[in-house]
Amino acid sequence: MSPENSYNIPRSVKDAFHRYKMPRLQGKIEGKGNGIKTVLPNIVDVSRALSRPPAYATKYFGGELGAQVQIEEKNEKYIVNGAHDVAKLQDLLDGFIDRYVICGVCKNPETDLIIGKDKNIVRKCMACGKRSDVNMHHGLAKYIVNHPPPKEKKGGQHASAGNTNGDDADADHVADALEDLALANGDDDDNEDEDIDEWAANQVEEAAAANDEDSDDPYDQLGDFIRENRETATDREIFAKATELHLSKKHRAAIVVILCLFEESVTVAKDIAKHDKLLMSFGTSDKHQRAIIGGFERIIEERLDVLLPKTPAIFKALFDEEIVEEEAFIEWGKKPSKKYVDKEVAKKIHKAAEPFIQWLEEAEEEDDDDDDED
Ligand SMILES: [Zn+2]
Repeated sequence: MSPENSYNIPRSVKDAFHRYKMPRLQGKIEGKGNGIKTVLPNIVDVSRALSRPPAYATKYFGGELGAQVQIEEKNEKYIVNGAHDVAKLQDLLDGFIDRYVICGVCKNPETDLIIGKDKNIVRKCMACGKRSDVNMHHGLAKYIVNHPPPKEKKGGQHASAGNTNGDDADADHVADALEDLALANGDDDDNEDEDIDEWAANQVEEAAAANDEDSDDPYDQLGDFIRENRETATDREIFAKATELHLSKKHRAAIVVILCLFEESVTVAKDIAKHDKLLMSFGTSDKHQRAIIGGFERIIEERLDVLLPKTPAIFKALFDEEIVEEEAFIEWGKKPSKKYVDKEVAKKIHKAAEPFIQWLEEAEEEDDDDDDED
């Protein structure tokens, strides 16, 4: 691959000698009128460099663009309906790589997707050995669960380097999750996350439950319900669904509600006021409040360019509606945590939230002064 025809994986790495390269994506617009479409002539090569089936990136484009796709694996035909600029597709591919290819910890692209018995997907990294969760509330995740990556890799960039992890898809996910916990605990470099990751702990519980019942993940069911009925369901109906799924007291259910209800909201702060009761109905403990902040951190992460500057307004809305209290914000403000979002993103959100946290702290001091005068 000559440098002018290739990009680093991920493109954010600027090192010209970076080991991991992918061909520049090509797009060819064919047809006209209603039949106009964008053919992806080299998505097979690009996907091979990413060690992912070409259908994944194609589906991802369709999902992000709200366009139908045509996939004929046998004929290596991958098409997105409509006319799409190849530069835009290349940008979207960055998002795909971020979510489904590179390691969430070290950003190395040599990862395998492993689908657990609980139908959650993790990226297992060959470089650092860590496993990072894939956000299961993104549309492509379900497709991947239903169309798992082939176990025998054909010529993937790292398959030839001796893939000793081919059996992992069969491995007991509970054991995997426990291993994750052990890894997380033994990680001395990362004292920002000393506490056992609650999310991982939940996965252990849920993986165990899923093994017993072999049922669909209730969180997925709740998420699907919200997505399918976002325009029509009332908050009461959403909470009734959560209750039916035995999630009415779960802080993670509050996160699912946030992720699915707010993923397309263009007025997040305003919409918080509309759904205040629903957001509080799962519980108001410290844990619930932290989870709600975490849910909105994820929403901000999903559309970082647009929503990062709105962080103070979003947090202020949570505060004004009494969904998250002062103490919870001040506790959260003490240090960035990668509990809910990528650590670099967490740092950015903390930076963006500074004016709001400062305002809270000053308001608290004034309150204390008032108390003295009484
Ligand atoms: Zn890694």
